[in-house]
Amino acid sequence: MSLIYSLMFKNKKVILLILILFIIIIILIYYLYKFNLKLEKFIDINKNEYGVIHAFTDNIGDDIQTLAAIQFLKKKRITNYNFINRETLNTYSGKPITVIMNGWFLHDWGKFPPSKNIHPIFISIHIAHDIIIKNNVEYFKTYQPIGCRDIATVNKFKEYGIDAYFSGCLTLLLNESESIKVKEEYHKKYLVDIHKDWQPDIGNVTMNIDLEKYKDFEKIEAQNIIPTDIFNNINKRLELATSLLEKYKSAELIITSRLHCILPCRSFNTNCIFIHNDYYNNKRFSGFHEVINGDNKLHNKMQGNKESIHKIKESLLNTNINNSNNNIIEHFNNDNIIEILKPKINDNTITYFFIYKGKEFSYETKFLSNEKFNNGIESVVTILLPFSILNNITLYSKVHCDKKFINNLYNILPVFKKMNKNNDLKLNIDIPLKENIIKKNKRIVSSFTLGVDSFYTLYSNIDKIDCLLFVIGFDIKNKQTELLNETKKNLEIICKMYNKKLILCDTTLKNKIYLGHKGFDWGKYFHGPAIFSIIYSLDNNYNYEFIIPSSPGWDGNAFLWGSHPLLDKHYGSNNLTIIHDDKLTRVQKIKYIVDYDDICLKYLRVCYMNFNNNKYNCTNCAKCFFTLYSIKLHGYMDKAITFDRNIDIKSKFWSIKDSNLINQHKDEIMKLEKK
Ligand SMILES: [Zn+2]
Repeated sequence: MSLIYSLMFKNKKVILLILILFIIIIILIYYLYKFNLKLEKFIDINKNEYGVIHAFTDNIGDDIQTLAAIQFLKKKRITNYNFINRETLNTYSGKPITVIMNGWFLHDWGKFPPSKNIHPIFISIHIAHDIIIKNNVEYFKTYQPIGCRDIATVNKFKEYGIDAYFSGCLTLLLNESESIKVKEEYHKKYLVDIHKDWQPDIGNVTMNIDLEKYKDFEKIEAQNIIPTDIFNNINKRLELATSLLEKYKSAELIITSRLHCILPCRSFNTNCIFIHNDYYNNKRFSGFHEVINGDNKLHNKMQGNKESIHKIKESLLNTNINNSNNNIIEHFNNDNIIEILKPKINDNTITYFFIYKGKEFSYETKFLSNEKFNNGIESVVTILLPFSILNNITLYSKVHCDKKFINNLYNILPVFKKMNKNNDLKLNIDIPLKENIIKKNKRIVSSFTLGVDSFYTLYSNIDKIDCLLFVIGFDIKNKQTELLNETKKNLEIICKMYNKKLILCDTTLKNKIYLGHKGFDWGKYFHGPAIFSIIYSLDNNYNYEFIIPSSPGWDGNAFLWGSHPLLDKHYGSNNLTIIHDDKLTRVQKIKYIVDYDDICLKYLRVCYMNFNNNKYNCTNCAKCFFTLYSIKLHGYMDKAITFDRNIDIKSKFWSIKDSNLINQHKDEIMKLEKK
């Protein structure tokens, strides 16, 4: 070694040569790495093979599960799939394949886990034997969260520290299948697996089935329905299952003891009564009581709870089935596409992701008040919309979006065309749609910043508004601690005073997302979509009306602005109506609020020049001067304690020459001065 060192130090050329070689090797490694990565992604996209589970048992319920998995893949636009035998998963040696793992697992628990060539998507799974989990904790952790068919299975996974959730049953998607048809000749009544010796009792209600009463019902024995000659023929078995489901779909009434009958019936909306002698304690039914009987009370109803059913379907359809933990970007080489990914929810924070030009962007919104989340992507679509139109970028996602929302967005395009004097602008959205039902519970929200517009909207809708929303990270940043604390304290006081719920959230949206001025200019394009996107993060169990307090008195046809009388409503959906509240001029609004309740002057905050000095109102900018002078002219100067009143406000007001705000209201102010 010492010889090499002495050689190197003696000869500077050798050192230089080694350095150059070293740099070349680094560059080579970098490019090889980059190339390989892309190659890998490319292979991933093309090798997507999918599989569904089947089982050769005497239970037709297994075949119904297979049909449900096929239907699930269809909804994901996948129509090529292979059949994988549930009982021999461990010996599978075919091509690498992504398999939908749903239904009942497993007769022979020794045959688990599946072979390495199987990438499992655990959804709607029921684990029959705890030992399957106990023996495969690390395996399941690799693929968590595990979507479970029932809550008992969720709890089993959680016992072993595996992340799991209630996904419900894929059979609830069967009504979406085009191959299961309503048949004319099937409008009958059926008893499906109801026997004379059956003594079902539902909770404390004992029902004696007197089969004499059901003479006009056709009996179906689902347990022994599969003829021996087709027992090992998958396609024939699925045909049989399809014809059975057609009966269920076309029936007038069904009474059953089978989960694989009641759930498809709930999906088809067929009148069906479920009876079982272990309805409450049987773990396979945990989580389904609302779906089966409408609520959790003791009864046997013909219909279930439509909202619960819809919710389960929605969450099933939103399940990601990419066979990679990294997000595969289908359009990774296309710079004109943004792919929006499924958001992640963690406690009180929701994180949104999208990919543009091969780079992942994300922002998070944290609710400081107790709130549930909507895990949809409407929030991201909203903020990307102006950018997408102005730069001809397609918005793409595999996650479903509200149909009315997407259709409504197309109304924004003509306004953009006109205002930008550009008829070539386009809007391209490639996102699967879903029809959302209108939620019964209404919530009326207004954004509230303690300013004049905010107080006006609050006071003029005082009986209507339920919640006031304030967003940290828009006009006040987290680091402005003092100003923020004072603002938060005052927001709490106002909410308490007028009995409104405060929705307080903190978002990195404005800080982190900027893709260029065309679409992300805060004033001209962004502040409207940004606040709507916050509303789309909120609990989607409500139907929202969102009132956005707005600067009044300007001609909507004159110029584009982030929150705009011609645009705001087009960001709404089936469960969100957006109202652009721009009545009265600002001078009139000030009069309205001080006359309504002059206590607002104790909290009024209008200044937008406080990002450096942290003052509540600087009393040194056009907006402060304008507001304070209007207050004085309305006769409330002594109450305006959030301003510095030791100034000659009249001369300050008239000394400002270049303010649009002041110029617009000059005449109104002069009239007041004469009074
Ligand atoms: Zn100011």
